[in-house]
Amino acid sequence: MKIYLDGQFVDKEDAKISVFDHGLLYGDGIFEGIRLYRNCVYRLDEHLERLEYSAKAILLDMPWSREELSELVCESCRVNNLSDGYIRLLVTRGPGSLGLSPNSCPKPSLIIIADKIALYPEECYSEGLSIVTVPTRRTNPAALNPGVKSLNYLNNIMAKIEAAQAGALEAIMLNDQGYVAECTGDNLFIVHKGKMYTPDAANGALRGITRQAVIDIAREQGLEVRECNLTRYEIWNADECFLTGTAAELIPVVKLDSRVIGDGAPGKVTKQLHAAFHDEVISHGTML
Ligand code: PMP
Repeated sequence: MKIYLDGQFVDKEDAKISVFDHGLLYGDGIFEGIRLYRNCVYRLDEHLERLEYSAKAILLDMPWSREELSELVCESCRVNNLSDGYIRLLVTRGPGSLGLSPNSCPKPSLIIIADKIALYPEECYSEGLSIVTVPTRRTNPAALNPGVKSLNYLNNIMAKIEAAQAGALEAIMLNDQGYVAECTGDNLFIVHKGKMYTPDAANGALRGITRQAVIDIAREQGLEVRECNLTRYEIWNADECFLTGTAAELIPVVKLDSRVIGDGAPGKVTKQLHAAFHDEVISHGTML
């Protein structure tokens, strides 16, 4: 495997960064997780736009243009002979002194890892996930805005540990007001009486690329989609529930906090949207 690291492709064993990199010292940096489907990088432009927004939010000046980043992502896939896979793009603040201030970091680092994709087990898609709500709250937007895809994922990691302690693969995180924000690495949707609902960004949901794709597909199919406040109560009593994410795509949820959702099996709308999503991934990409 060849990793892109600051201007060159190096072997995995040689892909090393400084212990003074603020990405390591403080989680000071940003990232994207991107899918490659049949030689096409799915919605690459949207991912790079979100990266630019994250960079702006943390006052990190990226010296690379959108076109340069786009080409480097494609080249990373080509160099590794991938036609389907998962790309992790990271921008760290770069090496500096031990103090917090990014003023000591003159040069951000760019890392691109193009790898095979590790998916949820197949039975999670056919039978649906059983998930829980965890005590750790999503960060308040006034502290660290969940819209920033930062390298500091401790908040989500705490929630992921709590999910595992409860025997679940994913978990719902609430925001400070007690409304549903999102899961540790996925966005959440419900279907109720023919309409779809999902927490809005103000509730602490990342503006997921898959989330937006699913909203677009659903609306094209004539479904009404509302971005709004949701509590656990709405999810317990929904007809269907599913999660979206770059790695997960669409994954059904059939139980939350020991309450069976709908009839306890992946729902019709969920299946329909997942099928439509598969059609769309090959038509919305950047060819290698
Ligand atoms: N929320 C969080 C916290 C995530 O880490 C992710 C995965 N990147 C998502 C939602 C889903 O976003 P996307 O569809 O862009 O992968």
